Amino acid sequence: MSDASSSQTGTTYKRVMLKISGEALMGDQGYGLHPPTVERIAREVKTVHDLGVEICMVIGGGNIFRGLQGSAQGMERTTADYMGMLATVMNALAMQAALEALGVYTRVISAIPMDQVCEPYIRRRAVRHLEKKRVCIFAAGTGNPYFTTDTAATLRASEMACEAIFKGTKVDGVYDKDPNIDADAKRYDRVSYDDVLVKNLKVMDASAIALARDNNLPIIVFSLDEPGGFQGILRGEGTYTIVE
Ligand code: UDP
Repeated sequence: MSDASSSQTGTTYKRVMLKISGEALMGDQGYGLHPPTVERIAREVKTVHDLGVEICMVIGGGNIFRGLQGSAQGMERTTADYMGMLATVMNALAMQAALEALGVYTRVISAIPMDQVCEPYIRRRAVRHLEKKRVCIFAAGTGNPYFTTDTAATLRASEMACEAIFKGTKVDGVYDKDPNIDADAKRYDRVSYDDVLVKNLKVMDASAIALARDNNLPIIVFSLDEPGGFQGILRGEGTYTIVE
């Protein structure tokens, strides 16, 4: 059992999943890792960790490689997907280094065993790490091709009994249209899983939304560009969309 309680953390949450895309780590470079950006996000995570909240993380790999892009260029899809999963391990290691430089203990836990680099995924061991306040960064997606890290985040959040998935993006919630293109785009405060699926709203892919719905796991979409935003959202402040 977790020894953190919501009253101890000053938020309504004691264990959460933070999902960010690989692109969130590339800054303005257009590709790869931008260390100052990784450090900035690590600071955001630390502020929540300092509250005593137990934190799981899944980071995508799109800043390095996406299986679909590889297969569109003629590469065999499963091989391309494995390359995408390996990209997520690189991002996880970068985040681990940035968090540990700030004094936050972490574990990178991979769905594909690579013992010299990180831990293999063993559910009960991961739960123990969380109880000991180590940030668990789940890498290599689900370990299976044809999935995304959104599904991996939902799967691990369910297995770890997280109370919610926090999806950090470039915008402060879910809109009916792309707010970067349409000035009259409307942000939803609250939206149902089925509306996300039926209206094809850009939150997470359909398998991830269906899995979250079936496990009653709320998804909170917020902007990771807002300084202090992650901690604020956990306290119920700021703007965000909740999918539930
Ligand atoms: N991937 C996979 N199985 C998984 C998770 C990820 O095959 O369970 C591969 C897939 O090729 C994907 C890539 O890893 O394109 C990177 O993940 P994703 O596209 O979800 O990253 P993000 O868009 O969040 O940066």
